[in-house]
Amino acid sequence: MTYAFPPAWIPSLPIRGASEEFPVRRVYCVGRNYAEHAVEMGHDPDKEPPFFFQKNPDNLVLGAEFPYPGATKDVHHEIELVVALSGGGTDIAVEAALEHAFGYAVGLDMTRRDLQAGAKKLGRPWEVAKAFEKSAPITEIVPATAIGHPASGAITLSVNGELRQAGDLSQMIWKTAEIIAHLSALFELAPGDLIMTGTPAGVGPVARGDRLEGSVEGVGRLAVAVV
Ligand code: MN
Repeated sequence: MTYAFPPAWIPSLPIRGASEEFPVRRVYCVGRNYAEHAVEMGHDPDKEPPFFFQKNPDNLVLGAEFPYPGATKDVHHEIELVVALSGGGTDIAVEAALEHAFGYAVGLDMTRRDLQAGAKKLGRPWEVAKAFEKSAPITEIVPATAIGHPASGAITLSVNGELRQAGDLSQMIWKTAEIIAHLSALFELAPGDLIMTGTPAGVGPVARGDRLEGSVEGVGRLAVAVV
């Protein structure tokens, strides 16, 4: 096999305690998975099955800096627990789902909220709002063998030292195992897939110069400067 030009690199993330990296295949995201966030976005959390969208693997950026993107005047932070899969398949049972979870990370689903609002209004896809360059700052992956499968614990985000998002993983409407099961009914999951599991209430705009500090209890901390 030869290529007409060099193929794109394979995005990967460090794994805590390992010398190998985690090669990323796909990045799925869950919408409105915390009741208070669904309400703040104008929806009734009781009426909605989970829904999904995607970011691109090469949108991931390991911590440090988030360049304020173009084509927007309203970029929001969404702090999320990320689950990293080392297994996969289709129609995975809820009871077996966590066997496919290799580990966890802390991620930011940065969102061009103005473009998302426009897309919603016109019934258009969300890629322009969600899948832009460096839209997914993330930490290293912490293996489940070290921390288990977090089902409760604080998930927070501060901007310039001020707490903006504060929730608990136990408030997730759809739990990690249920998300994997639902998603595997729609797509064939595979090793290397990441799933961003939704954000608690308190999303809001960022500006150049802001310092974001996110954390998920038992998983990690993510510090990002908006530049
Ligand atoms: Mn999100």
